[in-house]
Amino acid sequence: MTDCLFCKMVAGEIQPDVVYEDSEVLAFRDVNPQAPTHVLVIPKAHISTTNDLDADNAHIVGKLYLAAKQVAMDAGIAEPGYRMVMNCNPGAGQSVYHIHLHVLGGRPMTWPPG
Ligand code: AMP
Repeated sequence: MTDCLFCKMVAGEIQPDVVYEDSEVLAFRDVNPQAPTHVLVIPKAHISTTNDLDADNAHIVGKLYLAAKQVAMDAGIAEPGYRMVMNCNPGAGQSVYHIHLHVLGGRPMTWPPG
């Protein structure tokens, strides 16, 4: 998608602060962190929202979580604990329409989220 911010990162047109990358997944620091560790884990393939997941692309969701686990371990937040969030559509606050798993940690998390 030429007009997608995260696709531009995958294509190398914009350089985020990358913390993990493999053939299908990219993870980088959120530009507006909401916790001491706040990383976004994205599929390299464009998927606009979780409503666009289907049997053909669902495998990537597991890859996102495996990458998130690695990010958490590397950041030293795996044992104390961390939160993973994926917002879908405006009602949940999604602002970038390329699915991304937020990985947040390094501070206590409250529940329910706002
Ligand atoms: P969401 O609101 O769930 O769609 O999350 C989008 C996230 O992308 C927000 O937390 C933003 O701070 C983050 N974001 C937007 N632009 C950039 C950027 N250029 N680099 C890193 N993170 C970004």
